[in-house]
Parts: sequence; C-alpha cells; structure tokens
Amino acid sequence: MKSFGYAAHDKVAPLAPFRFERRDPGANDVVVEIAYCGICHSDIHQVRDEWKNAIYPMVPGHEIVGHVSKAGPAVKKFKEGDLAGVGVMVDSCRVCANCKADEEAYCEKGMVGTYNARDYNGQLTFGGYSNNIVVNERYVHSISPKLNLAAVAPLLCAGITTYSPLKFWKVGKGKKVGIVGLGGLGHMGLKFAHSLGAETVLFTTSAGKVADGQKLGADEVVITKDAAAVAKHKGSFDFILDCVSAPHDVNQYLDLLRLNGTMCMVGLPDAPVTISPFSIITNRRSFSGSMIGGMPETQKMLDYCADHGIVSEIELTSVDKLSEAYDRVVKGDVKYRFVIDMATLPKG
Ligand code: NAP
Ligand code: ZN
Ligand code: ZN
Repeated sequence: MKSFGYAAHDKVAPLAPFRFERRDPGANDVVVEIAYCGICHSDIHQVRDEWKNAIYPMVPGHEIVGHVSKAGPAVKKFKEGDLAGVGVMVDSCRVCANCKADEEAYCEKGMVGTYNARDYNGQLTFGGYSNNIVVNERYVHSISPKLNLAAVAPLLCAGITTYSPLKFWKVGKGKKVGIVGLGGLGHMGLKFAHSLGAETVLFTTSAGKVADGQKLGADEVVITKDAAAVAKHKGSFDFILDCVSAPHDVNQYLDLLRLNGTMCMVGLPDAPVTISPFSIITNRRSFSGSMIGGMPETQKMLDYCADHGIVSEIELTSVDKLSEAYDRVVKGDVKYRFVIDMATLPKG
C-alpha cells in the first residue's frame, strides 16, 4: 500500500517529505486514515538517536487517531468510517505469558514498535507522521466520538503511560501522589491522579507553569529549585511518578516517599540513574519503572477518558513546522502536547 509522510534520514537533518510502502492490508488488518498524530518526546529522542537505536529512514509518531478506511474480512471490532487509534505498538507475539495476561508491552519476544522497529517479518515499521497506517485490529483502539479527536491523540501514549502505573500502584482517594515534570506525560498524570481522587502535588522546574498545574488538577505546585518547599514534603508521598525527559537527581524525590512508598520512572533520559542506597533503605522505599500499557488497559483508559471528559491540552501544528515544535518540546515550552494536523500533509 502506498503511503506518504515525513521522515528523518539521519539524526540532524530536518524531517522531510517521504514516500514509502506499507504492507497490503490482510484479513485481520484495518487501514486507518490518519487525522492527527501527537508529538511525543520519545519521537525526538529517537529521531536524534539519543537512545542509540535509530533506524533511518524513520517516520516517527505513535499517538495516532483517524478513521478506518478499510477493514479486512475477518475484522470484528471495526468497520469503514469508525474512529480508531493506534499507540506505541503494532504487534506482539500474542502467545507468551505476558501477552496472554494482556501485558503486551512486556511481550517476552519483544513487542513491535509502531516506528523505528522491525516487524516479525523483518520489515521496518513506519509511524504516524503520515497519511495512513495498516495495523492488525488487536492493536487498534476504539475512540469515542464524544471527545475532541485531535486532543485524544496524545492519550495513545502520554495517556496510557501515566494511567497504567497510577492504576497498578492503586492511586486513589486517601493517597498522596507526586507528579514530576509538567510536559506531555506529566500533564496527563496530573489529570488522572486528580480524577482518581488522590491528593496530587506537581513538581516543576518552571515557575511559569504553576497556575496551569493548579488548573490541571494539582492541589499544590512545588518549584523544585525551592529546597525548603520540597523539604516540607519529606516522607509523605505514597507514590511519585517521574515524567522528566532529561537527566536529573531522583534521590530528591525518593526522600519524599513515606514508609513502603514507590517512585516510578516513566521518563527516559539518555543517561543512567544514580540512586543513593540511603534514599531507598529509609522507609523501605521502591524505585520502579513502567512502559506504556497493555491493549485492554489502553482501551479502558480511553473509555475512562470518554466517561470523565478527559483529553490532552494541545497545540495543533503542521508538518512544515516540525523542527520548531521539536525545539519547543525540548525547551519544555509546549502547552502541553503538540499534535500534528495531518490535513497539512501535501497531497499526492
Ligand atoms: P515533555 O513533554 O518534553 O515533558 C518533559 C518535562 O520534563 C518538561 O516539560 C519539564 O517539565 C521536565 N524537564 C525537562 N527537562 C528537564 C530537566 N533538565 N530537569 C528537570 N526537568 C526537566 O516530554 P514527554 O513527551 O512528556 O516525555 C517525557 C519522557 O517520557 C521522555 O523521556 C519520553 O521519552 C518518555 N516516555 C516514556 C514512555 C514509557 O513508556 N515509559 C512513554 C512515552 C514517553 P517542567 O517544565 O514542569 O519541569
Ligand atoms: Zn510516546
Ligand atoms: Zn508476547
């Protein structure tokens, strides 16, 4: 199938128009005509080869929403015209213990990423900065027409990546939760923690984000440079979700956990994390991580968002402004997720 999008050809050149082929849709596949695609900081890490795993040409994008233009004869969940979403993975082995437990992100064979990956036939996968995508229906999600479609796109990565650990560690009423970093992931973490009923504190390096933090659900916003304001929370958190994209000191946050508290890292800075043993033996603390979420859980999150009117705060952008958008994301200057309007792709 012919596709058209924007690709990175190396780690420095701006993304450029790119024609390519996807597999022809099979019996269990749906073709999604892409309406919007979010810009995740992971796109930037990979385009710039910060994780040292780049495969070029790379068509990034794993926060994909659009309409089904074709459903294979064996497809059950979708018909032509339905809204659909695709996130960070497009396949997994489906038979390992983790896949069977609906934890496809942790597939023992290794899940197939939506882009910058090879599928099980060795074909390079291409992501959502493009006009269409072919995906087995097991890895495609239903989208409610109740929500603003463009603002749903970031739920497919930023949404599930924050929802999943909050649910796994049973965040809710009576729990005190910290969210670190108000970016694409952080602002969704804030919305979910607040919506689940937790007392929610935002930690930010940006003094200019305090009012937004409060609006988005923080009971309190702490500027991390203010050591006294941080110290006030020592030993008090049940759970802290670290959504920061750049190297930083995690011990500062570990020290804020109460007895048996957990800090979970979802951010993926390109440098190892240093943990002081004293930060974790004190209060029997745990330091953990979490990767996106399984397919049923992603659908559950999308349904939860439709029921509770939750979407991402977005700035719409166009394919000709990707470099500018990337630079602003890296500066922490986006409120709070860029979403590419795919109608801006040149025709043909
Ligand atoms: P983002 O929109 O750029 O947000 C990152 C936030 O981190 C910034 O808004 C900023 O918040 C804070 N920050 C940035 N530089 C910092 C620094 N030097 N020191 C302290 N804080 C800093 O990025 P995102 O799209 O939310 O992604 C966040 C990270 O999660 C990325 O590394 C991404 O690759 C990773 N990720 C992981 C998964 C997963 O499955 N685990 C999924 C998606 C993304 P303040 O201005 O509030 O300080
Ligand atoms: Zn992502
Ligand atoms: Zn598997």
